[in-house]
Amino acid sequence: MENKELRNIISSGESTDIMPVLFIGHGSPMNAIEDNEFSRSWHDLGKVLPVPRAILCISAHWETPGTFVTSMPRPATIHDFGGFPKQLYEVQYPAPGSPELAHSVKQTVSKTEVGLDEKWGLDHGAWSVIRKIYPKADVPVIQMSLDYHKNAQSHYDLAKEISSFRRKGVLIIGSGNMVHNLGRIAWDHANDPEFGFDWALKANEVFKKLILSNNSKELISYQMLGREAQMAIPTPDHYLPMLYSLALRDENEPLNFFNDKAVMGSLTMTSFKIG
Ligand code: ZN
Repeated sequence: MENKELRNIISSGESTDIMPVLFIGHGSPMNAIEDNEFSRSWHDLGKVLPVPRAILCISAHWETPGTFVTSMPRPATIHDFGGFPKQLYEVQYPAPGSPELAHSVKQTVSKTEVGLDEKWGLDHGAWSVIRKIYPKADVPVIQMSLDYHKNAQSHYDLAKEISSFRRKGVLIIGSGNMVHNLGRIAWDHANDPEFGFDWALKANEVFKKLILSNNSKELISYQMLGREAQMAIPTPDHYLPMLYSLALRDENEPLNFFNDKAVMGSLTMTSFKIG
């Protein structure tokens, strides 16, 4: 859509039907070019989701001191990984940005200073998934960074402050992995891609149960959830996008899991759609 139209909607405060919210377990960057059950589910989402006026993505792969939103009109496709086939580095996702939406997020969020970023672009946490959902790259996309100085509660509270964009036609996507421990990948189970260690499966079940019951308090205090959760979240980068998505759920809104599977022993692809 035209950015002018988007600007009018955002500045006029015009409401739309409430947009769903996604949390996507993105897993390996190869999902961006492979035709597998995960990438197919993303493709299928594109068929059932309303076409948003813009997308705001919170990706595990953009951590900054402070909170930023990308505000360039033409975000670059960032290949922020190493050791993958050439074909993956050749992928471009030329979706436009939305300086208007970035400014509007900055104005709307009051408890956190939101900076405008002109240097980042779209990292693979965003484009690997979004290119399957909206292959035409015709929906404007902005990213919001994860401030690595903020604690989990502050991230959750910040997410609440952007919930009004759901009623302005903005699809908000958290992209990470609930269980994500790259140091524990089961290389000796390479022939069994859906293998999950017991601790990973257990942590995944604990998280799902708490998500279903909207128990944000315990999910925010994830370090208190025991050894399995601690192993599932050695660093918070891939877990926090899930908290952002969950914070946007209205009371009693439906939440459905998909791609609820372990991969490589120490990751789960478990994803959900709200609304
Ligand atoms: Zn990742």
